[in-house]
Amino acid sequence: MNILNIAVLSGDGIGPEIIEQAVNVLQSVQEKYSINFDFKFADIGGVAYKNHGHPLPQTTIDIAQNAQAILFGAVGDWKYDNLERHLRPEQAILGLRKHFELFANFRPAKLYSELAHTSTLKPEIVENLDILIIRELNGDVYFGQPRGMRIAPDGLFAGSEEGFDTMRYSKPEVERIAHIAFQAAQKRNKKLCSVDKANVLETSQLWRNVMIEISSQYPDVELSHMYVDNAAMQLVKAPKAFDVIVTGNLFGDILSDQASMLCGSIGMLASASINKNGFGLYEPSHGSAPDIAGKNIANPLATILSAAMMLRFSFGLPHIADDIEQAIQKTLEQGLRTSDIYSKLTNEKLVGTQEIGQRVIENLYNL
Ligand code: NAD
Repeated sequence: MNILNIAVLSGDGIGPEIIEQAVNVLQSVQEKYSINFDFKFADIGGVAYKNHGHPLPQTTIDIAQNAQAILFGAVGDWKYDNLERHLRPEQAILGLRKHFELFANFRPAKLYSELAHTSTLKPEIVENLDILIIRELNGDVYFGQPRGMRIAPDGLFAGSEEGFDTMRYSKPEVERIAHIAFQAAQKRNKKLCSVDKANVLETSQLWRNVMIEISSQYPDVELSHMYVDNAAMQLVKAPKAFDVIVTGNLFGDILSDQASMLCGSIGMLASASINKNGFGLYEPSHGSAPDIAGKNIANPLATILSAAMMLRFSFGLPHIADDIEQAIQKTLEQGLRTSDIYSKLTNEKLVGTQEIGQRVIENLYNL
């Protein structure tokens, strides 16, 4: 039987707690479907800095390199905030994205109907919401050079301390994410909205030009454009008007967090980051939530959903991914809620990270 190798990088804060639940679910998948996973665990982020002096040690890169997919928790903790930037935990995830060229980030924002009332928006605005945000992950102001701190050489504030970054995208970078987005739209409702700030930024003007150019290869997909400020407004005004959104690294970071609240909680939003060979890193869209770490209250469902995405994208096992999603649906129907999605309705039961994870497994077995 084929062995499927998974690098498991739990990271900091709630990372280990939520990853434990996702690994438990994958272990039950092994038994139920006779699949063989080989889990290789490695340090990443703050814990890697503590144990190895670097947030992304070479040993961790090697383990990831030898795996067929990466399951990732989250990195970051306030106690590392005073480290030099290159040693901060967050550099580890940026480093992995860059190292493996994971340029295409898929963030499905799908609302489970049981959670319609937990969204901060009116239920009728979000009911049946099912949109996909595709975020470019390797470029933009997060990676552009030059960047740094210096004494401002000119301008009104010359002589003062200033920080500066560079927003940039090259044409091939935009082309490759455009193809991914058009193809994703083809598999859904054939509507693609490209979000930019072309009225102000050159980077965005290039982005828009490329989207228009590539659209001629996908005549069945209806392409529209929206400025990011308007998109932020429309996402809360009429989110169901969107189907697939494609945008750059910075705008995608913000809009996808915003979209998470449409789904009830950031603890529900999974993600997949894929490179051109189909190699993927799967992680929840949220961070390491140090404020709730170690309390058994974090919602592990986004991480379990990310593991389901791994089965679908990296291992070609969509039927098992569907089953995991169905087991989560059933768990929510049964009223189990972690505190982030708990709204004190009579049919709801407040449970911890482990209990909700365990119920997903039971439901998976009983499908
Ligand atoms: P965060 O996403 O960690 O937390 C934001 C809020 O959402 C917090 O109130 C938190 O308690 C809550 N939350 C997050 N995940 C939850 C879950 N699964 N269940 C219940 N509640 C949840 O964002 P932040 O507070 O801005 O950042 C905390 C740390 O995480 C920082 O160090 C940041 O740099 C890092 N971070 C890491 C990643 C990553 O690893 N990919 C992404 C974003 C932020």
